[in-house]
Amino acid sequence: MTTTPDIQIPLEIRPKDGRFGAGPSKVRPEGIDALVNEAPLYMGTSHRQAPVKFMVSRLRNALAEMFVLPDGYEMVLGNGGTTVFWDAASFGLIDNKSQHLDFGEFSGKFGKAVSGVPHLDDPQIIAAEPGTRPEAVGTAGIDSYALTHNETTTGVSMPLARPEGADDGSLVLVDATSGAGGIRFDASQTDCYYFAPQKVLGSDGGLWLAAMSPAAIARIEKIDASDRWIPPSLNLQTAVDNSRKDQTNNTPALATIILATELCEWINHNGGMEFSAGRCDKSAATMYSWAESRDFTTPFVANPEHRSTTVATIDFDDALPADTINAVLRANDIVDTNGYRKLGRNQLRIAMFPAIDPEDIEALTACLDYVAERL
Ligand SMILES: *Cc1c(COP(=O)(O)O)cnc(C)c1O
Repeated sequence: MTTTPDIQIPLEIRPKDGRFGAGPSKVRPEGIDALVNEAPLYMGTSHRQAPVKFMVSRLRNALAEMFVLPDGYEMVLGNGGTTVFWDAASFGLIDNKSQHLDFGEFSGKFGKAVSGVPHLDDPQIIAAEPGTRPEAVGTAGIDSYALTHNETTTGVSMPLARPEGADDGSLVLVDATSGAGGIRFDASQTDCYYFAPQKVLGSDGGLWLAAMSPAAIARIEKIDASDRWIPPSLNLQTAVDNSRKDQTNNTPALATIILATELCEWINHNGGMEFSAGRCDKSAATMYSWAESRDFTTPFVANPEHRSTTVATIDFDDALPADTINAVLRANDIVDTNGYRKLGRNQLRIAMFPAIDPEDIEALTACLDYVAERL
């Protein structure tokens, strides 16, 4: 182990908030205040009673409003985060055969999870090199298309559209864990837009949320009525039934719900997706133009159209080891800027979620200049 160089970044140029992790991500102080204010009649109370059910209803409504959900779409939620939702979808949403776009660790995981499921055909996997993105291919016999709005590990996002030539009745399932609430999309192009709230929604982990179309809900009902065995805790019909009553099948983390609600309502009060996506756009413009203008950095994602506006991946010159930069930043209270380990690049990864102030992204670039000059 080398020791961390003793570089003190002047307080005047540091970001006001030093949290840039891609998940768990920065929780707004206003979220913590809401938690503290509501705590006496909320935390430590029954999730079957009005105060918690009302908070769940606020969250479901705020998300529906933010996403401008078409008529008939419903916000469904359950416990276990996105990873557990993949298993629930393998039991309750995929009829027989799915297609998966694999362009990084997370987008690859759903396909891998489905590959081992005995009641499903082997999935079709369409892969692209990390830092690029593949396209869905409408194919006869595919009943579910698994897309990823934003690949968190590489900083690549994709536009959401129903694949041309897809079978009638096929569903578009989108992992939007690091996109939902930060990147514009047209909900009518999706059937199940699912995510966990510890990334864009600046909350805590453990919950999954999904905007479901009438077709997705009908598919869930049909499969539930079939003779397929479904583990009770992963049953999506149970989740739909409970969500309609603003509940979850089993006990949720109450703090997660209130933090997510506060963030969504803050976004909606300020103009909805235009406001939140606008903040992300601003941060991304700052980050990428900085990385392009320095001779020691390059945006990892070569095609500007593929670059995520919620998670930036920036390659550094080998003379500036990312591990050292991250250690110096951490010693100065700027945290979680490390790249995704398994990519194995000399890279920093910076979350630019709506809760993160675009001015703090600007300040971060000044701090990176300050550190780079001294290494
Ligand atoms: C973080 C992440 C996940 C995993 O979420 P968990 O809630 O930890 O299961 C899945 N997909 C994407 C795109 C993510 O960013």
